[in-house]
Amino acid sequence: MKKQRIAVFCGSRSGRIPLYEEIAQKTGAQIGLQGRSLLFGGCDCGLMKTVSHAAYENGARVYSFRIRGLTDAYEPEIITADETLENVQQRKRRLIEAADACIALPGGLGTLDEMGDVYAMTQLGDIRRPLGILNVNGYFDGLLHFVDTVHREGFLSDQDYRLIIIRQDIEELLAALDEV
Ligand code: AMP
Repeated sequence: MKKQRIAVFCGSRSGRIPLYEEIAQKTGAQIGLQGRSLLFGGCDCGLMKTVSHAAYENGARVYSFRIRGLTDAYEPEIITADETLENVQQRKRRLIEAADACIALPGGLGTLDEMGDVYAMTQLGDIRRPLGILNVNGYFDGLLHFVDTVHREGFLSDQDYRLIIIRQDIEELLAALDEV
């Protein structure tokens, strides 16, 4: 089933090399070109800015989930609808709940925290969402090694492990998420 609403987690910074900007650009563009919607944290900064502008420029609806009172860089022009949440926990929950699938691009510990939440909610059977990981430049190798260990050592079920989809290319990743 086509995953229409894609939550993207990624760096609020741009990272060390231009490749990260390039893949954020391509991710936003593909979401738009494939007729999907982007859900994101709303900040006009770093890779979040790149992915959201690219999505908008390629025809995507862009949904922002911001925290009340946060005075972040914000670009209302590109936002189709804006939901304001009271705190970071609520924001993550709504973002994941509203999405059909979640994708992680390179990012920092905020991105890691969001990935952990997708997994935690899925494991509890609360809100089950596939988590796509775009592993460019071996960025997530260390984390994926750990996830394999978690699975092998019996702390992650086969069923939940199958919801973690890893690709190096965004078109392949979106296609694989549609198959889940
Ligand atoms: P990080 O990977 O640490 O840069 O954090 C990025 C992730 O955390 C994004 O996917 C956002 O959803 C969230 N986030 C971090 N900083 C902000 C911010 N200033 N405004 C909105 N969301 C943010």
